[in-house]
Amino acid sequence: MRASKFLIATLKETPADAQIISHQLMLRAGMIRKVAAGLYNWLPLGLRVLRKVENIVREEMDKSGAQEVLMPAIQPSELWEQSGRWEMYGGELLRMKDRHGRDFCFGPTHEEVITNLISNEIRSYKQLPANFYQVQTKFRDERRPRFGVMRAREFIMKDAYSFDINAESLQGSYDVMFDTYMNIFTRLNLGFAPVEADNGSIGGNSSHEFHVLADSGEDAIAVCEKYDYAANLELAQALAVGGERQAPSAEMTKIDTPNQRTMDDIVKSTGLPIEKTIKTLLVKGSEHDVVALILRGDHELNEFKAEKHPLIAAPLTFIESDKEIIAAAGCSAGSIGVVGLDLPIIADLSATNISDFACGANNDDEHYINVNWGRDCEEPEAYDLRTIIAGDVCSRAGDDDSADAKITIKRGIEVGHIFQLGTKYSEAMNATCLDENGKAVVMHMGCYGVGVSRIVAASIEQNHDDRGIIWPEAIAPFDVAIIPIGYQKSELVQKTCDNLYQQLSELGVEVILDDRKERPGVMFADSDLMGIPHRLVVGERSLEKGLIEYKNRRAEESEDLNADDILETIKTLLKT
Ligand code: ATP
Ligand code: MG
Repeated sequence: MRASKFLIATLKETPADAQIISHQLMLRAGMIRKVAAGLYNWLPLGLRVLRKVENIVREEMDKSGAQEVLMPAIQPSELWEQSGRWEMYGGELLRMKDRHGRDFCFGPTHEEVITNLISNEIRSYKQLPANFYQVQTKFRDERRPRFGVMRAREFIMKDAYSFDINAESLQGSYDVMFDTYMNIFTRLNLGFAPVEADNGSIGGNSSHEFHVLADSGEDAIAVCEKYDYAANLELAQALAVGGERQAPSAEMTKIDTPNQRTMDDIVKSTGLPIEKTIKTLLVKGSEHDVVALILRGDHELNEFKAEKHPLIAAPLTFIESDKEIIAAAGCSAGSIGVVGLDLPIIADLSATNISDFACGANNDDEHYINVNWGRDCEEPEAYDLRTIIAGDVCSRAGDDDSADAKITIKRGIEVGHIFQLGTKYSEAMNATCLDENGKAVVMHMGCYGVGVSRIVAASIEQNHDDRGIIWPEAIAPFDVAIIPIGYQKSELVQKTCDNLYQQLSELGVEVILDDRKERPGVMFADSDLMGIPHRLVVGERSLEKGLIEYKNRRAEESEDLNADDILETIKTLLKT
């Protein structure tokens, strides 16, 4: 590509509305332009990268045996009514009507369409397992579109859906996709980790997210280096802290705590460490109106874990109005405690582990100290209710190695998600096929997403410096930039550059020759900003010495290469 014929749309200034580095650099390098919130134009430079990502994903999916299809972006409401999601799916679903007044949506995902398609096309277990994928535009009316293409409303996803005769076979299809995703993200040269993720009702080891580790990531991940464990914070198992529960050592005593409503107030007035206090949260129950959840004073409730408990209503709903709280506990929110509380009580593992603790006395402005489970109130049901924190012991550790199996919290960008759906959609939409005995059975499904456009931004988060993007070779928009010094003035320079451009192109190397009438400084800056991995500078003075200057985008210094064997050298550098 000649730069004079290519839309180079670099910007000097950092656009004010771009908060994270990838968004800033995608705008500055001239890869994308905003159309409206969460909607972007891809410029030629950006599209070259997007296509490379797409191709790697496609090649690995094809290798895995998956078959490519293409489904429509617009989907009829009838299919969503069959799955029950027309009502369930919230504001992210963009709904619309056609000229006949029929309801449609712009697909945020394609479970309904593929399940409907495959239930009509696949008849026999002999056609299974099968996996179908597409690379396609999705629309989700995100509450907070931001960070450019990282969290857009319209974006490109690779989505795949597997069909199996039973759960065991689904596990096999899932494992193949797990390995495929490892290959995809490795080829993309990303620093990533597979992360155990929440799978709602199905449970087991049946959902993983793939995260690119970056400080700008929107998700928090619990990581233990020692056990190579990584789990979504929503899911990560939090063990009881504090060792075995100590025996009671003092009598329970009621104290006056006028106007003290928060744990901090109680800690200050009693002088007790916060680890010796508990807090009580009231939520809606599934069998009882209200259930009390108990956590140690310094721990946070994990809502995702809580709502999986059979006695707790999902979605988790706090009892918030003073009237309801007083009706349930006999006092206002800051004074609730476990002694004499006439509600079902579920306590976090760490909260059941303490002795001689403080809690509210179920009377305004009064608390108890030196409360002990089993002595002053009933032993509660112990359940993992809290969010794991840095310094907690990894759930994979045994007693003897717990000291060096500590959790750290890292930030991640979710670039992929694999998920065992089981029969959720196939049952609702009656997707059956005949088994070995000629009996109709409901197929087991998995779904597998890759955020193709998000990957472009995620890669930049990990590969940049103060001069711009540093593309990994696998997805660089061009392999080599040729920068002439005096292209318009020197015949020798022009001829050398043109030859080099042609010969490299013939070898399949993607070259951008900067034949614009720009100062060398501008061309260098643009090439660095756009992140081209290899740069050749062709000038008359060097050519007279038989040299061409070469610089790797990652290197500090340039080096002189012999002009005569420049092609061979580049071939070696690019391993073509
Ligand atoms: P997130 O938690 O980031 O919203 P999700 O769980 O909604 O993601 P999935 O439904 O699993 O995402 O979609 C598959 C992949 O599509 C995600 O792993 C992510 O890489 C990508 N993706 C999802 N939402 C967006 C978006 N708004 N913009 C760009 N990519 C997205
Ligand atoms: Mg989402």
